[in-house]
Amino acid sequence: MNSKHYDCIITGAGVLGSFHAYHAARKGLKVLLLEKDSQPTDATVRNFGMAIPSGLNQGKWSDYGVRSLEIYKDIQSEFDLSVRKNGSMYIASDATELTLLEELSAINKKMGYPSVITGKESCLEKYPGLRASYCMGGLFFPEEITVEPDRMIHRLIAFMQEQLGLIYRPYSLVKSVVYRNDRCFVETSDGREFTADKVLICNGRDFTSLYPELFAKSDIVVTKLQMMRTSPMTDFVLPGAVLGGLSIRRYESFQECPSYEKLNAATINEQCKKWGIHVLFKQAADGSLIIGDSHEYEDARNADRLGFDVKQVINDIILQEAQRIFDLPHWNITTQWNGYYAQRKEHDIFMETADTNTWIITAIGGKGMTVSAGLAEANIHKIFA
Ligand SMILES: Cc1cc2nc3c(=O)[nH]c(=O)nc-3n(C[C@H](O)[C@H](O)[C@H](O)COP(=O)(O)OP(=O)(O)OC[C@H]3O[C@@H](n4cnc5c(N)ncnc54)[C@H](O)[C@@H]3O)c2cc1C
Repeated sequence: MNSKHYDCIITGAGVLGSFHAYHAARKGLKVLLLEKDSQPTDATVRNFGMAIPSGLNQGKWSDYGVRSLEIYKDIQSEFDLSVRKNGSMYIASDATELTLLEELSAINKKMGYPSVITGKESCLEKYPGLRASYCMGGLFFPEEITVEPDRMIHRLIAFMQEQLGLIYRPYSLVKSVVYRNDRCFVETSDGREFTADKVLICNGRDFTSLYPELFAKSDIVVTKLQMMRTSPMTDFVLPGAVLGGLSIRRYESFQECPSYEKLNAATINEQCKKWGIHVLFKQAADGSLIIGDSHEYEDARNADRLGFDVKQVINDIILQEAQRIFDLPHWNITTQWNGYYAQRKEHDIFMETADTNTWIITAIGGKGMTVSAGLAEANIHKIFA
């Protein structure tokens, strides 16, 4: 075997590609991870860093989420990935949302996934600044975690290089993958060639470098989200992830609750509806608060039409809604950014074979930080059975 031959080559070092690399390397395979940029800079580092299976439908996706929590915690026990197990709290703002929290808690109890109904007073005690005028009560998921998205992926890659023998090559844009003579030939834009028994392509929202025709006729859409960060807050602690009533209306897990249809859409601010806004909070390790987000959509082939601009009007509405929920020590926004992820209209992920021994795995939507570790484990077991 020449030194440029691998058991597995993975294209794209976002959370999906990196966790596939992790499980392949853990299996003892010789793995090469190729990233086009100097480091991953897309959805995987621009998100909240919430791993919250509680927001997913019961079944395969919540199972992958729960398994991912175990994987994050296992790695964290030997190498700092920035994982904090501080739980997530959904806050109800009206009686129907509160009923949904009770119903979701009952569903989770049956599945053996721990959650705690938390009364209004306890919520107000646990979360300083939470407004009594907003909070009717909450549902807390103690097992859920947060990570620092601007650190986690770099730490995971470093861990794999140091301890699992991963070969990682940034500045490596894969421009073609061809199967011939029983192996996959992977060529980068600067003319390097590598070969592997199997290739996985976890290309995120890049639909032009590889297989553009395949993606152009797919049902993939790209979603643009707006996010903000405050300056660090000293003497203010907001543990874990906090999600407001609009998330109860948005997350798929609540659609399984018997009272879901009773939610009254008329009570939602029209501007929140227009921009797909729900409000989530997470305090980063430096004390700053990450607040978001909104949702705008375009088909994959027209994704550039989403634009690169941060729309102030959207951030103003997010902040308005956020201020209904919390009375923070300050609202000094120091950073605003857009994140983009791919998802499908008709399915929950894009997993297809592009050629013999070549798989594309992308368009995981807004759940990638929550489920990728578990999904990748199942995929690697199947692909390298
Ligand atoms: C604002 C925002 C908030 C979010 N919050 C959460 C959250 O709290 N919890 C959660 O579970 N999920 C969240 N998500 C979703 C999550 O971030 C995504 O599902 C996940 O990061 C997608 O990972 P990925 O690896 O598929 O894509 P990406 O992160 O886009 O990674 C793909 C990588 O592939 C590389 N690449 C592409 N093509 C090539 C090529 N040809 N050659 C070499 N390299 C290539 C790219 O450079 C990129 O680094 C959020 C997303 C956003 C945008």
